Amino acid sequence: MAESTPLITEVAALEASFQRIRAASRAEPAVSIAIRRDRLARLEAMVRENQGVFCTAIAADFGQRSHHESQLLEIFPSLEGIRHARRHVARWSRPQRRPVSLWFQPGRAEVRPQPVGCIGIVTPWNYPLYLAIGPLTAAFAAGNRALVKMSELTPATARLLADLASRYFAADEVAIVGGDVGLAESFSALPFDHLLFTGSTAVGRHVMRAAAANLTPVTLELGGKSPAIIAPGYPVDKAAARILAGKCLNAGQTCIAPDYVFLPEDSVDDFIAAARRVVTRSYPALERNPDYTAVIDARHFARLRGYLEDARARGGRLVPLAGEENEAARSRRLPPTLVLGATDAMRVMQEEIFGPVLPILTYRDLDEALAYINEHDRPLALYLFDRDRRRVRGVLERTLAGGVTVNDTILHIAQDDLPFGGIGASGMGHYHGHEGFLTFSKLKPVFYQSRINGIGLFSPPYGARFEKLLKVLLR
Ligand code: NAD
Repeated sequence: MAESTPLITEVAALEASFQRIRAASRAEPAVSIAIRRDRLARLEAMVRENQGVFCTAIAADFGQRSHHESQLLEIFPSLEGIRHARRHVARWSRPQRRPVSLWFQPGRAEVRPQPVGCIGIVTPWNYPLYLAIGPLTAAFAAGNRALVKMSELTPATARLLADLASRYFAADEVAIVGGDVGLAESFSALPFDHLLFTGSTAVGRHVMRAAAANLTPVTLELGGKSPAIIAPGYPVDKAAARILAGKCLNAGQTCIAPDYVFLPEDSVDDFIAAARRVVTRSYPALERNPDYTAVIDARHFARLRGYLEDARARGGRLVPLAGEENEAARSRRLPPTLVLGATDAMRVMQEEIFGPVLPILTYRDLDEALAYINEHDRPLALYLFDRDRRRVRGVLERTLAGGVTVNDTILHIAQDDLPFGGIGASGMGHYHGHEGFLTFSKLKPVFYQSRINGIGLFSPPYGARFEKLLKVLLR
C-alpha cells in the first residue's frame, strides 16, 4: 500500500510533478467556464463521497478528533465554498467593461481575469482538509492547476487526499505533497505563479523569503493572538458561552479561536461561573468524551502545559473548567483552562496559544483594552460583544484585524461572500469567495483603440495646436 500511494514525498518526484502541472497550465492559457465548473464539481464529489473516510483519517492524525466536528468544520465549509464558487464562477470570470476618459474615447477599456497558471498551496495540520480544499477551490475557480503541500503532522489525511485526488483528477491538474520540513522548503522554493501559505507567522517569513527569489507572489494566512472583548453592559453569561464554544472547537487549535478575553473588572466571577457551566454542559466527563478533540501531539501538549506552569509561576491563577489532569496526559485531552491575572510577562500572553487555554484580562475603561490591542501585533480575528451600535462602530474604526465577528466567535470565516485573510503579522492577502478568485487571477487590463481617434493630435511635431491642447489637459 505504502509504495502505491500517489503522495509525493521525494524532491525528484516533486520537481517532476511541478514541471508536469506547470507545462499543462502553459498549454492551456484559456480555461473555459465549463472546465472550471467540471474541476469544481469533481472536487465537490471527492469531498462529499468520501466524507466518512476523511473524518476517520483526520481522527487518526489527531489521536482523537470528533467526527461531528470534522463534518461541521472540514466537510461542510469545504462543500459550501465549492458550491458558492460553482454558482458564481461565470460572473466572476466575465471581462468587466471600465469607463474611458474623454481624451481616449471612443476607445474601450476592460479588465479580463485570466488564470495565472500553477499554484502552490501549503497547508497546516489543524484543519488539514478544509485548509487544502478552500485554497484549491479558489485556484480551480480562477482556472489554475495546483500542488498542495500537506503538513507532516497529518500523514493519514495527506495519504488519503493524495489517493483520492489521483482518482478524481489527472496528474497534471493537481498533486498532493507530503514529506518532512525539508520537502516543505523545496516546495516553497519552486517558481510557482502564486503561493498560498497557511501556517505560523514564523514559517511564513521563511516562505516569503523563498518566494522572493522567484518573484512569486504570496498570500500568507498566518496566526497570532485574537482578542475577544466583552463591552460594559453586555450579558457576561451569553458572551462566555459563545467565547468558550469558539475556544473549545478542535480544542482551541483554530487559527481564529479567541486567544484571550478582555472583560470589565467586576465581571470576572460571573465569567468564570458561566464558562464552567457551558463547558460542563457541552463536555460532561471530558476524558472519554468523543466530542472533545485531543491536542495534536506530545510536543504541542507539552508546550501548552508549559504555558500553564509558567503562568502559575508568575502569579496567575489557573481555573480548569472540566476534566482530570492524569487522564488528560494519557489522551492528550487538555481541559479548557482559564488563566486569571494574565500579564504580558507570561508566555501565554506572548505567543499564540493554539489550545484550550484562555487568559483573562480586565479593563476599567474600554479604551484601555483597545490601546492594549493596538500596541500588539494586528490580530487575525477580533471578537466584540456589545449591543451599543455606536460603540461597535467605534471599535471597528479604531482597531485593525484580519476579520471580525460581533456578538459571536468564528462565524465570519464561514461567510462565503466575505474575504478571509490577516494583516501584518497575521498575514497578507485574501481568499474565499470572489476575493479568492481575484487572488489567483491576473486582472489583465486591455485598451481597445477605435478606428477613429484623436491620438494623432498628441504627436510631434509639437506646435501651437498641441500647446492649446496641453492648456486644456493641464488646467
Ligand atoms: P507551521 O507554520 O509549522 O506549518 C505550516 C506548513 O508549513 C506545514 O505544511 C509545514 O510542513 C510547512 N513548513 C514548515 N516549515 C517550512 C518551511 N521552512 N518552508 C515552507 N514550508 C514549511 O504551522 P502549523 O503548526 O502547521 O499550523 C499552526 C499555525 O497555522 C498557527 O499559527 C495558526 O494560527 C496558523 N493557521 C492559520 C490559518 C489562517 O487561515 N490564517 C489557518 C490555520 C492555521
